[in-house]
Amino acid sequence: MPKIIHFRNNCIGCNVCVEHSSQHWEISREDGKSNLKGAEQKKGIYILSISALEVEKSKQAANDCPVKIIQVVED
Ligand code: SF4
Repeated sequence: MPKIIHFRNNCIGCNVCVEHSSQHWEISREDGKSNLKGAEQKKGIYILSISALEVEKSKQAANDCPVKIIQVVED
């Protein structure tokens, strides 16, 4: 199953990922960084399984993230 991986600690809260998909992303009111909705956290890294249909849009968010902290893996 494909996955989005978010290295949240380095997020600068620019909102680009939210603009690509508010279904998956939102800006936290607590610290201004983005949250990957519904993701599981492991040592500050957030991982969310997605469907194959969501891969392309997620890759666009990954490509446009200015600090390159979003990865999309297909396995
Ligand atoms: S695009 Fe990147 S830096 Fe900007 S809010 Fe999303 S994860 Fe954070």
